[in-house]
Amino acid sequence: MECQKEKNLENCPCTYPGCPRKGICCECVKHHRENGELPGCYFNSETEKSYDRSIEKFIEDQKK
Ligand code: SF4
Repeated sequence: MECQKEKNLENCPCTYPGCPRKGICCECVKHHRENGELPGCYFNSETEKSYDRSIEKFIEDQKK
């Protein structure tokens, strides 16, 4: 299966600038998982801009 990077980029809500993993969802998930985090697309648009990808932030986000 070919990488769907260009297609993924059309729907990627992450605003973090200059990330080399943007649109490469498998690498994005791997990176954040290894850091005990979640990818930016798990957060609402306002929280995403904080660039805090922690699970604690995700849970806090879900309570809003
Ligand atoms: S969520 Fe993280 S790894 Fe994924 S594109 Fe955004 S900054 Fe990069």
